Amino acid sequence: MRLIFMGPPGAGKGTQSAFVCTEYQIPGISTGEMLRDAVAKNIPLGLKAKEYMDQGTLVPDEVVIGLVKDRIQQEDALKGYLLDGFPRTVEQADALKKMLSELNEAPLDMALNLAVPPELLVERLLIRAQKEGRSDDTEEVIRTRIETYNQKTLPLLDYYRKEGILREVNGTGSLEEVQSKVKESL
Ligand code: ADP
Repeated sequence: MRLIFMGPPGAGKGTQSAFVCTEYQIPGISTGEMLRDAVAKNIPLGLKAKEYMDQGTLVPDEVVIGLVKDRIQQEDALKGYLLDGFPRTVEQADALKKMLSELNEAPLDMALNLAVPPELLVERLLIRAQKEGRSDDTEEVIRTRIETYNQKTLPLLDYYRKEGILREVNGTGSLEEVQSKVKESL
């Protein structure tokens, strides 16, 4: 199973994607996590990425495309994977499609979108900010991340709808409720 997990910041992707990975026994590949890891380890790529992340804007496409290309070729990802936070732009989606075909890998099976109304997002993210203390979880940066999502990432829903692999899940409700909706959609 090769799938991408989409949804706005604060939709609860992290929690639900972990569940999907366990169900399918596939690794979860989160570009946000890979980037935060690069920042923590002071890798040059991380230093470059941090400026964008701290502002809530997107890291340049070529950086994340390179990360994903390396990662999906690792042993544990050969039979499938869940991509979380990638692709985030139409350019990234095109690059992914091209890279899978060039690597002779199977195309994506599914694009799962966790839909949450905008008014719930800021609230959820501010609560998370207090718990986790992520440096990009301030109110101003949160608003920029949501704006960036609306401009750059929302168009991907149509992209995958046209490809015929989009599944939409309503992400409102409790963790358990959303989890059972995700399960039904699989
Ligand atoms: P969120 O919880 O807001 O969805 P992520 O953990 O997925 O955030 O990503 C955090 C930050 O990392 C983003 O705001 C962005 O700066 C950067 N980032 C992550 N994935 C990508 C990507 N595919 N393209 C560009 N930037 C990315």
